[in-house]
Amino acid sequence: MTDRPERTRAAWLDVLARYQRDADRAGSADYWSPSLDRASRDELIAIQNAKLAVLTPFLYENSAFYRRRFDRLGLAPTDIRTVDDLPKWPVVDKAEMIADLAAAPPYGTYTTHDDALWATRGWMMFSSSGSTGAPRVFRYSQRDRELWAWANARALHAFGIRPSDSVLICAGYGPHVFAWGVQFALAAMGVACIPGGGLTGEARAMLIDRFKPTALTCTPSYALRLARVMAERGLDPAASSIRLLLVGGEPAAGLVGTRRLLESLWNARLVEFYGCTEVSPHCGGYSCRASDQGPGPVTTHLMEDVQVWELVDADSRQRVGEGTRGLTVCTSLNSESSPQLRFLVGDYTTLTTAPCACGRTHVRAVGAFAGRSDELINLRGVKMYPVQLEEAVRAVPGCGDEYEIVLATTADGLDVMTARVEHADHAAAAHVEREIRARCEVRCDVEVLAPGTLPKTEFKARRVRDTRRSG
Ligand SMILES: [Zn+2]
Repeated sequence: MTDRPERTRAAWLDVLARYQRDADRAGSADYWSPSLDRASRDELIAIQNAKLAVLTPFLYENSAFYRRRFDRLGLAPTDIRTVDDLPKWPVVDKAEMIADLAAAPPYGTYTTHDDALWATRGWMMFSSSGSTGAPRVFRYSQRDRELWAWANARALHAFGIRPSDSVLICAGYGPHVFAWGVQFALAAMGVACIPGGGLTGEARAMLIDRFKPTALTCTPSYALRLARVMAERGLDPAASSIRLLLVGGEPAAGLVGTRRLLESLWNARLVEFYGCTEVSPHCGGYSCRASDQGPGPVTTHLMEDVQVWELVDADSRQRVGEGTRGLTVCTSLNSESSPQLRFLVGDYTTLTTAPCACGRTHVRAVGAFAGRSDELINLRGVKMYPVQLEEAVRAVPGCGDEYEIVLATTADGLDVMTARVEHADHAAAAHVEREIRARCEVRCDVEVLAPGTLPKTEFKARRVRDTRRSG
């Protein structure tokens, strides 16, 4: 049969449409899509299974990457029809996509978006944020735009954003998914927005002061930077019109020190999008009104009718149970162009299906997220996240916002770490050293620089410089 790619695509688009409830407007005041956001656990699994059974034939017929993988594993698409079947399918990681891209540049074959679709219903191309090698790109269709806007609208609605709000988006508007996803969701919700791309911090501070947006969308490091720019201009961010900080692109909600600092600087609530380019087109995780209300750590919902979230052991890559720490794996069930099957997103967390005070039934990541496992710094066998170092710096009063971690190899071949921080008092070095040792269980040299020495963050902070010979 020669029309199999088309038939399986039509079936996939049908099932996507069937479960896209409340596509155009909020179904209730508290929930954008009440029957999905509050579906029973059994119903959520039934929806996932209904989508999976149609997804696997679609992938097999429309992605050479997936067809090769099914064939190599000796599996037929019909072998994976339910969530319980998923462990048969080893997780897909970035390295496999990179190899596929190298063999089939410039797009690779790991998506279901081909040149014919790009030429007829293409929408936008996004790129992974990896800093080395050829970019892994993801082309999306006009249908993805609608699905993306809808799913993100559900999350923005959960944050409390309504048409009476206006949102200032501070982003570069490059091929990074986060800001675009917010932009299109706001349009679908009828919420006004001020695009703040391509402007200086001073110009953005002026926009806030003059036009009074109620929410700010940017990376957490930029939210910190912009608060300082406002203060330098004699404007108090805490007294500004901003009541909500919608951040993404870097971890923040789960970092108590960073979250408290931003919330107090802006006198605003911080909410977060969690996700990645590969299993877009939209966020996977989002804060709800109960996320930071305790007891216990902050939590992040993962949207389960449109994605299947699992955790796997970092070494065996086998699924771990609820309450056990593992790395995030996502099967995306809401995309025409990039519906990946068990992609290793790679953040450590634990999951809970315990009921949430907000009324949503979808699983939550406890303590939110601290960063991708491939960002872990390994110093002489001690592993730590860059954000743990950030928490240490934030714990020392008087430290500047910017800091840098330098990893280097000494002449005797020993790998060492130096934290470069800004402080008016050189004696702060000992305090920073103690905080780092307490959090990361590693010794670190601290270099104190005069305030204002380090370059200011403009989008995503680049805090770690690794010059070690071992790399
Ligand atoms: Zn909730």
